This record gives sequence, structure tokens and C-alpha cells, in this order.
Amino acid sequence: MTQILEHWIDGKAWSGESTRTAPVFDPALGTPQREVRMATATDVGTAVAAAAAALPQWRDSSIATRSRFLLTFRELLNARKDDLAQILTAEHGKVLSDAGGEIARGLEVVEFALAMPQLLKGEFSQNVSTDVDVYSVREPVGVVGIISPFNFPAMVPLWFFPIAIAAGNTVVLKPSEKDPSAANWLAELAAEAGLPAGVLNVVHGDKEAVDALLVHPDVAAISFVGSTPIARYVYQTAAANDKRVQALGGAKNHMLVLPDADLDLAADAAVNAGFGSAGERCMAVSALLAVDSIADELVAKIAERMGELRTGDGRRGCDMGPLITREHRDKVAGYLDVAATDGATIVVDGRETSIDGAAEGFWLGPTLIDNVPTSSAVYQDEIFGPVLSVVRVSGFEEGIELINSSPYGNGVAIFTNDGGAARQFQRRVTVGMIGINVPIPVPVAYHSFGGHKASIFGDAKAYGPQGFSFFTQEKAITSRWLDPSHGGINLGFPQHS
Ligand code: NAD
Repeated sequence: MTQILEHWIDGKAWSGESTRTAPVFDPALGTPQREVRMATATDVGTAVAAAAAALPQWRDSSIATRSRFLLTFRELLNARKDDLAQILTAEHGKVLSDAGGEIARGLEVVEFALAMPQLLKGEFSQNVSTDVDVYSVREPVGVVGIISPFNFPAMVPLWFFPIAIAAGNTVVLKPSEKDPSAANWLAELAAEAGLPAGVLNVVHGDKEAVDALLVHPDVAAISFVGSTPIARYVYQTAAANDKRVQALGGAKNHMLVLPDADLDLAADAAVNAGFGSAGERCMAVSALLAVDSIADELVAKIAERMGELRTGDGRRGCDMGPLITREHRDKVAGYLDVAATDGATIVVDGRETSIDGAAEGFWLGPTLIDNVPTSSAVYQDEIFGPVLSVVRVSGFEEGIELINSSPYGNGVAIFTNDGGAARQFQRRVTVGMIGINVPIPVPVAYHSFGGHKASIFGDAKAYGPQGFSFFTQEKAITSRWLDPSHGGINLGFPQHS
């Protein structure tokens, strides 16, 4: 009998009223391994009700209680991270070492959330007027909805829920239906670490479940990560329903290589950032801007390195795994036809890569395309696969112009040994996360993560100080303790004496 992955609501697995399910594949095998339950709006309502019921007690729990939970959760997660990595590889396809890296970056956020006693502190101004003090406190916003994408089934939930919970909120998490098991695993681990039932709930589904969260009157805030069209829709719909919302979208990340760069370092970086996780990263390098004078040499160095990569089942020590679905694999491979039609040069064709894995897996090997015209969809679209496009540019200025004319602004990198050029680059690009001789500049957990332009909607980035700010609302209190006889009638606007 096919196993069905159920929702996790109020501290236990729960099937709800829905009979609708969707298959969950192992992309390296190309076959469904289980089904996942797809929630109706009523099921989402049950999850929100559980979170709302748990809120008063969790909101009022002491900072010591919440810290102890996070410490225990951190220890359990660290001790069992290899089990979680197996789940990630089995449902997403990324190789085990990369799954380990995803978990490590998630763990960092849990560790950062432990700074909560400091970050939740308010401010105090004594005697702003005679005998009058003003102080502020940070309080949770309430029930928080988190909607996450397929490409980081553990890390993206971990970007949000440890901070939301640390700040005293309760959570309904709606992970991607393509690789949903990691979310249940994390919720069960949180329960084992002592999190009260109802504080962290997981509801599975697709648009129907998302829409129910976006309009539910008891959901106070939405954190979304996914593609730009859906991020824009989530932002607009949640805001129209009076919610606080942060919605992180897609990307098309450039890497500019100047003639004075260390070309071996740049070639290593392009390969790592272009093909890690089969290019299914919102910070993947997708468009390599190579200055004409070094382009031939750089392309040759990249192609040489690509010849050493092993593509195959992530459990076999390969460098790169499969794509998430057959449809996505075919869509990505379709860009090679587009490239040929648009007059680009296919240097390494991933359709011809020999694979260390099952024939039915969703494979496409690392692909390198040179001389890509900027009018081509290969350059313009977020391909989200192992396709690295090289665009040849005349120099620094043309590179900046291309980067800034992209509708996206998530990540960007420059490779150079010229500090002045790097400094100008950092000041002039309209991009949220910049790497200088660093290809995937994902900020550490105590800075915040987020792009510019169509890569983010709303003004709060993920995790870091902005995470705590998003998941809390401030109260400012003006207080005076003195004999009431010192009062008196005065209808004028309060002034200070
Ligand atoms: P997606 O937009 O298809 O799905 C994201 C979430 O939205 C999923 O939970 C999905 O169930 C839900 N969803 C899908 N269609 C919907 C609809 N029509 N209405 C409401 N909800 C819907 O994204 P994906 O394919 O899972 O993830 C890949 C995308 O995410 C890429 O574009 C990538 O760049 C982006 N991403 C961005 C970041 C970032 O931090 N900016 C991080 C990771 C991934």
C-alpha cells in the first residue's frame, strides 16, 4: 500500500477531510515513493485553529522556556542531521554532501535565534519629560504562515520558524508538495525537543492550501519563498487581507569576471555556483559575464573542470544530482534548443552526460553555453537548472549595465583583484547580496537574506535582525508615576517640560 504523508497538526499526524493526494518522487529513481495529502481550506482552518489555540500560552512563556526549547532542538537536529540529509536527497535529489550543507545553514539560524534574549529587548528613555519615562517592548505578531519552495525543503523553513517561535509566535508551515517529508521530520523533532502541541503545525498542499492561509483572518503574517510570479501574488493577496508579508522571489544571478581576476579561482567558483544542487538554487550563478580579452581562456578552464564532474544518484558520492521533476528537466533541457536557435555556442551539452544512476531519473548533466545573446530567453529567464550561460562583455561598464537591467536583484558576484573596481561595483549594482571573489554570497544567519527588485516583495528580508523585526510588533509606552494631584486639564498636544 502506498504510504501517505499526512499533515502535522496540534502535535500529531492528521489526515483532515481531503481525499486528494499528490505523488512524491525520488528524482534519482524517477519513481513515486509515497503520496502527500493535499489540504482543503477547511484543513488549513484546522491548522490555523491549532496555532491560534496554542498562541496565548506560548506567547506568555518565559524567554528561559523558549531558549531551552531552542537549545534542545539545536542539539537534536545536529545529532540527527544525517537522517535529515537522507530525506533531502531522497526527495529533492541534491547530493548528500550538499544536503548536509543545507542543514548546516539551517542550524546557523537556530543558533542565531538563541540570541533572542538580546534581540527582543526593548528600549528605555528615562525622564523624557519631568517624571515621565518612555519605553518599548517587542511582542509576537500572532499566528504566522510560512510557505516554502522545493529547492531547500529544510533550510528555508529553518530560516523562519525558529525565529518566529523564539519571538513567541505560533506557526503553520506549508512546505513544497514536491519534497514535503523534511517539514514533518522537523516538526516531529521540535515536539521531541519539548515544543508544546500546536506551536508548529505543518499543512501540505498546493494553491488551495496557500490561498486559504493568505485570506485566513487569524493569520497575522506570511513569510513566502518561491518563484517571482507566485511571490508577487502572495504579497498582493496577503496584503489585501491585512497581513504583514515578506515574499522572496526568483533570481537570475550574474558573475562578472574582470581581466585582472584569478581565472582559476573564477573558474572553480563558476562551476561550484553554477552546478551545485543542479543549479536549483536561488543564488546559483546563471549568467557569467566574461570580459572579451579573457573569455576564451575562462571558458576553456570551466569546460575542463566540468569534465571532472560526476552526475548521478546523490547517495553514490556524485557531484551533482537530478532535477526535481521530469517536467522541469524537460523544460531546462529545452533551453539548449533555444540556445542553438538563437545562435549561441553549446560548449558542453548536458544531454550527453553519462549518468551514474537509474535510467528513469530526471537527469541533465552540467551544461555550458557560450556567446549567449542577451536577447535570448537563455539569458533572460531564470532557468533553475545546471545551465551556465556565458555572455561576453567589453568591460566593467557593460557588465554593470547588464546586471542592473535585469528585472531580478537577488545575488551577484564580481571576480577581480582591483579593490577600486570591486568597491564601485558594490556601490552601483541594484542587487541585494553581493559577492566579491565569493560566488554564492548567502549572508550568515546574523545578517539578513534578501534581494532587490523582483526578487523580493515587502520590506523585510529573511532571518537575521530583520527576521526578528518581521515576527514582532513594537509597543511604545509612556508612563508617569506621581501624585494624581499633579495632573490638570490641558487639551493641547502633549509637550515636554
Ligand atoms: P514555486 O513558486 O512554484 O512554489 C513555492 C511555493 O508556492 C510552494 O509551497 C508551492 O506549493 C506554492 N505555490 C505554487 N504555485 C502556487 C500558486 N499558483 N498559488 C499559490 N501558491 C503556489 O517555487 P518552487 O518551484 O517551489 O521554487 C523555486 C523558486 O523559488 C525559484 O524561482 C527560486 O529562485 C525561488 N527561490 C527563491 C529564494 C529566495 O530567497 N529569493 C530561495 C529559494 C528559492
